[in-house]
Amino acid sequence: MGLSPEAFERLAKIVGTEYCSRLEEDRVCYGYDATRRFFPPEAVVFPASAREVSAVLTLANELKFCVTPRGAGSGMSGGSLPVVGGVAMVMTRFDRILNIDTDNLVATVQPGVITGVFQRAVEKKGLFYPPDPSSADFSTLGGNAAECAGGASGIKYGVTRDYVIGMEMVLPTGEIVSFGVNTAKGVVGYDLARLIVGSEGTLGVITQLTLRLLPLPESSRTLMAVFDRMETAAEGVADIIREGIIPRALEYMDNAAIRCVEAQKKVGLPVDAEAVLLIEIDGTETEAEHLARRVVSMLEGRTRGDIRMAKSSEEAARLWQARKAISPALRAYGTGKLNEDIVVPRSRIPEMVTKIRELGEKTGLTMVSFGHAGDGNIHFNVMFDREDAKQEKLALSVVEEVFDHTLALGGSISGEHGVGVAKALYMAKEISPDVVALMKRIKYAFDPAGILNPGKMLL
Ligand SMILES: Cc1cc2nc3c(=O)[nH]c(=O)nc-3n(C[C@H](O)[C@H](O)[C@H](O)COP(=O)(O)OP(=O)(O)OC[C@H]3O[C@@H](n4cnc5c(N)ncnc54)[C@H](O)[C@@H]3O)c2cc1C
Repeated sequence: MGLSPEAFERLAKIVGTEYCSRLEEDRVCYGYDATRRFFPPEAVVFPASAREVSAVLTLANELKFCVTPRGAGSGMSGGSLPVVGGVAMVMTRFDRILNIDTDNLVATVQPGVITGVFQRAVEKKGLFYPPDPSSADFSTLGGNAAECAGGASGIKYGVTRDYVIGMEMVLPTGEIVSFGVNTAKGVVGYDLARLIVGSEGTLGVITQLTLRLLPLPESSRTLMAVFDRMETAAEGVADIIREGIIPRALEYMDNAAIRCVEAQKKVGLPVDAEAVLLIEIDGTETEAEHLARRVVSMLEGRTRGDIRMAKSSEEAARLWQARKAISPALRAYGTGKLNEDIVVPRSRIPEMVTKIRELGEKTGLTMVSFGHAGDGNIHFNVMFDREDAKQEKLALSVVEEVFDHTLALGGSISGEHGVGVAKALYMAKEISPDVVALMKRIKYAFDPAGILNPGKMLL
């Protein structure tokens, strides 16, 4: 399915010549994502309306070329990489917030809106959009929906799937369809919005989203608790949940993550600690203060005597910025990074953390783990030298062992980054053949010619 000169000419007519490119620099820029893998497209288009998206997809069916939708390209599993060439469809010109309905707590947005821009826009109106991937400052709402992005607040508020209630989407065959609701309830027909969220751009191109909002919590408190042992920190997490307290965020970092991010951000993280928990509690002013104090007294015995509450919103913001900076900061540990995001039942976190540590000791590879301890979602990174094929092979074998252990503990191999190309080969470990076959039938029903984002998830 190569892209012919005729196809390029007709694409340029659809979106306008300035929004259609096959320049080397564009093909390079849009051939990468955060996985650092490289698959250049043959051309890049930047449509600005559902009608243009529809015309491109109709042409793709007629002339048989592939199309890969793309938001900001911050994906961690390669979902936006045009692995078989064809056209990269960049959705960043869909960048308008169309409506924020404060009476009904619903917003309508285009998919290219940056998540953080939207969060701040609703906050100005006293409202709250909880999904908060660490990439919120640069990822798009469309990319978040396609990946079902999560974030620190998942423990209390859920993930993107819990907030997308409707959408407009262009089918791979070119039809523009709308489904879902604008209301708090609605059960007519299949819940297609829920199916599309997390489908990684393989079933259609989202051109509009309807999102549920919440009232903005009145107040919050941020705590940092420091531990001598990772296992004790994990037990602290279990204590908090067992007490019936659900923080807005309950994040952890291991020693390697603490040292790396402190070297770059200098926010005063304890570089000699084995683990740190960052905890945010929200609610009314009285509630937040009361619950934060309860957490402090609960954890005091477990920490190494070092638990502090941020004294100002600036101090709290600095701590959260440090947490969000971990992933890019890890490049200091090696040129190669396998970045996984397994999820286990919360009560199994100590076992998982021990396993990861043992594998690090056994292989001598630097292993860094951090993540959303509150919902069992562990980001573990295996660092290696990209030039050293033996080390890379070893790193891959560690990943496979961690996946097997995760599944044995009743977990899942991806909590939020998705399958894409990075985990496609491991799908069969978690999903049974009959269910994979069912998923393939769904894909076929949406995309009989297989032109949308091929080579992903379902190989
Ligand atoms: C430093 C860093 C931190 C991160 N932290 C988190 C985190 O805390 N939680 C988390 O969940 N993820 C995180 N991520 C991963 C990534 O940011 C998310 O997966 C995000 O949702 C991707 O959005 P994007 O706009 O960059 O999409 P892209 O990477 O461009 O695309 C992702 C997928 O969405 C599809 N897609 C994009 N737009 C559309 C559309 N309009 N219609 C249909 N399909 C579309 C693409 O085809 C692709 O399959 C992080 C990434 C980085 C680099």
